[in-house]
Amino acid sequence: MRASVDSSFLESVNQLFERAANLIELPPGLKEKIQICNSTYTVRFGVRMRGKIQTFTGYRSVHSEHMEPVKGGIRYSLGVSQNEVEALAALMTYKCAIVETPFGGSKGGLRIDPTQYSDEELERITRRFAYELIKRDLINPSQNVPAPDMGTSETEMAIIADQYNRMNTTDINSRACVTGKPLTSGGIHGRVEATGRGIQYALQEFFRHPDDIKRTGLKGTLANKRIILHGFGNVGYHAGLFLQQEDDAVIIGIANVDGGLYDPKGLDVADLQKHLKAGQTFKNYPKGEFLENGLKLLECECDILIPAAVEGVITTANASQIKAPLIIEAANGPITAEADAELNRRGIIIIPDTFANAGGVTVSYFEWVKNLSHIRFGRMQRRQEEYRSRLLIDEMNRLFASSDYPFRFHEDFIRRYLQGAGEIELVRSGLDDTMRLAYQSISEILHTRPEVNDLRTAAFLLAIERVATSYKNKGL
Ligand code: NAD
Repeated sequence: MRASVDSSFLESVNQLFERAANLIELPPGLKEKIQICNSTYTVRFGVRMRGKIQTFTGYRSVHSEHMEPVKGGIRYSLGVSQNEVEALAALMTYKCAIVETPFGGSKGGLRIDPTQYSDEELERITRRFAYELIKRDLINPSQNVPAPDMGTSETEMAIIADQYNRMNTTDINSRACVTGKPLTSGGIHGRVEATGRGIQYALQEFFRHPDDIKRTGLKGTLANKRIILHGFGNVGYHAGLFLQQEDDAVIIGIANVDGGLYDPKGLDVADLQKHLKAGQTFKNYPKGEFLENGLKLLECECDILIPAAVEGVITTANASQIKAPLIIEAANGPITAEADAELNRRGIIIIPDTFANAGGVTVSYFEWVKNLSHIRFGRMQRRQEEYRSRLLIDEMNRLFASSDYPFRFHEDFIRRYLQGAGEIELVRSGLDDTMRLAYQSISEILHTRPEVNDLRTAAFLLAIERVATSYKNKGL
């Protein structure tokens, strides 16, 4: 997909890092210390299946341990390589610093096409991969905590948690060894959709900043903005669903690995997902125009482009054809360093991956804290909050009833006012707060430091300064 003149994923991440790092003074050697990947473990293991031993190759890369545990997803894909996991691990370091989750950066991957294996085979492969990582503390609640990424889901996370528990039967914090688990295995409400939800919150915050909106030439709010989604997996689907259902955006294009659909009047995200869940394809979806090559959708006219699939889809080969004035990177590394430079030259605004897709790790942080505290968020205070609110409403109703202007609160208002916050409300509130604050910090750098011209450089600067402070505090 990447044009030959474009840098590899890892080279791109390093070039974009350096663009920012070169703008600040750091003690000698610290820039290299922050940038370099600390270690990458490669494992090759065999699993007996279908009458023979099949050998698989997997990686777990630790980019920075300035904070521990280190954090980052595990990807199942045929594209997995050392270059890829190291690039993804580096992005995790910067991402965690930007959204202030107290982790270093890590990432893992297994070179496998998960669609070619049955559920039982995938369980055996996942258990064996997890075993190899657990015995080297590359999965551990206090040292290295994975999560889902492309090709994995809460199913694999539940298997990893169970495998860790089998190998560490007396570890009371064993559930915190991995996040993105199902609720029944110690997961948290709102984790599955967290990255897509984070994209929505990031865009909402962007549209609260008139100076930033002005740079795109767009006007108003998210309502009626024409959006194209490239990637319709966990992240793309949820981002599209929330933006359509809650912000009244119009999703005019959706692509996945099998092709794309285009309809200028808007596609129904939930309906398309229902169609796919029923075993159908993009090609036989009865609405919209089908495009054999989904990449072509990247070049269509729209207001907001959301790459939400894989890295390196916007390169020097197609950057000049991009028409969206605003791109938000839901995927990791969808734009090569060279394409990024060209898009910047053309005045296209990019909300970068290091911030935009941090919703997943943010809610993973909440899940990890929940696992370590062994209690669901809101369990202690919810009814107490309701009780105190009820006291206030009853007293006000009593006072107003005996006044010269008899008045009672409306029943619907009372019901909503009395509702104490449960786990999902707290998770959403924490995620929204995180995305707002992180965007405000990035935007402030963009507007107060004349040497910074784009949001990506601003985000990198924020991350580098935070990681540098952390190293300095450690006496390094
Ligand atoms: P997923 O496996 O659920 O979905 C991947 C989607 O990309 C699918 O729709 C697939 O068809 C599509 N796709 C794959 N290759 C493609 C190609 N060559 N062209 C077009 N479409 C292609 O994965 P996901 O969890 O949604 O992750 C998507 C991206 O978001 C990845 O870059 C991942 O690193 C990033 N991300 C995910 C999370 C998370 O919580 N899952 C968090 C942060 C970042």
